[in-house]
Amino acid sequence: MTDPMDEIFTSARAVIPGGVSSPVRAYGSVGGVPRFAASARGPHITDVSGREYVDLVMSWGPGLLGHAHPEVVDAVQQAAARGLSFGAPTVAEVELAEAIRERVAPAQRVRFVSTGTEATMTAIRLARGATGRDLVVKFSGHYHGHVDALLAEAGSGVATFGMPGSAGVTAATTAQTIVLPYNDAPALTEVFAARGHEIAAVITEAAPANMGVVPPEPGFNGLLRQLTEAHGALLVLDEVLTGFRVHPSGWWGLEQAADDGTRTWEPDLVTFGKVVGGGMPLAAVGGRAELMDLLSPLGPVYQAGTLSGNPLATAAGLATLRLADDAVYARVDEAAGVIADAAGAALDAEGVAHRVQRAGSLFSVFFGEAAAAAPVRNYAAVQAQEAFRFPPFFHAMLDAGVALPPSVFEAWFLSAAHDDDAVSRVLDALPAAARAAAA
Ligand code: PLP
Repeated sequence: MTDPMDEIFTSARAVIPGGVSSPVRAYGSVGGVPRFAASARGPHITDVSGREYVDLVMSWGPGLLGHAHPEVVDAVQQAAARGLSFGAPTVAEVELAEAIRERVAPAQRVRFVSTGTEATMTAIRLARGATGRDLVVKFSGHYHGHVDALLAEAGSGVATFGMPGSAGVTAATTAQTIVLPYNDAPALTEVFAARGHEIAAVITEAAPANMGVVPPEPGFNGLLRQLTEAHGALLVLDEVLTGFRVHPSGWWGLEQAADDGTRTWEPDLVTFGKVVGGGMPLAAVGGRAELMDLLSPLGPVYQAGTLSGNPLATAAGLATLRLADDAVYARVDEAAGVIADAAGAALDAEGVAHRVQRAGSLFSVFFGEAAAAAPVRNYAAVQAQEAFRFPPFFHAMLDAGVALPPSVFEAWFLSAAHDDDAVSRVLDALPAAARAAAA
């Protein structure tokens, strides 16, 4: 019997490139036919054939509370009844900006956009406008959305498909981006010594999770702060993925909380997306007031958007941040810990060399002896793993009703809705998946 999903995928590919609106959804690196989604609730996602999966993708991060949290849905429905889009400022935007600033102090002013890509693009333009410099430093394996200047050696889909960058990005643009290996203090120091006066900004994932999870080594973010400050460059902390997910104040908040108070540091600009929009298209850039006030209409750096600060999206974001209390973070951390440990134990039991790396509640598995022998610190080590073990692992999980991100380069996402039942279903699926990875 043919799976109806085959037919749908064929129709999709006839009208949408690759059949998908974002590349990794196409299952390119794991093979097979993507599950077309029909609905999602709590920790579950259901495909158009009626099969239900425990979801460890959670829309690639936004679903901190679980899918379709009733209070978030209610807030969106109430907002929708008042109007879908105004093209005028709203009180809810002010409240959401205040909620962000309360949690992430460096975001003294906040500008809303619709995607993480727009947020990082705006941050880079603002940094160049503020400093009058052109060069941007990024790290290989970090993903900041599909901004021309930031696609070089990027993570996420670019890593999944083994691309060095993207066609269509001009040589002039690439020449203004310096790509450095991650967690490499000497490389960073050297580049600042040679070209520090030309560098507008360093942009970094607060804790990288788009090449698998590769946390910053202790003090690395602080070093970025020191060097940028010493050379008059800005530090852009990309918290699109980590913001409001790993801690109410993002990865930055986790680092400050872990600190003894003598080494605190603040970024100049911070980008947010995913959780801040509660599953709706909303993202933001925040930062020091005098920098942010360089944005139009106050300053010379232009930035705008027809749907920016959309009332449905701001309603979802506000409801999500208000519901994300300590109990939510404790549950997400707990569920992540149990599943990460169980994945490691299942692979150990089958003799599959691997390493599980965590950054707060985010984690991923790296396969192979090299990864097992030493922590994975950068993109070169990520690429050296035995990635071929992931597709059979992924499909065994899917067959058992657990939807993992369809790429070895992505983090696994939990939510507060992942209750003991959902977690048990994942634990039950792991031994067979580990056996498949061993083969
Ligand atoms: N920055 C980071 C760290 C991300 O993980 C992503 C998306 O995964 C982006 C930026 C881009 O966000 P969006 O996909 O909303 O454009």
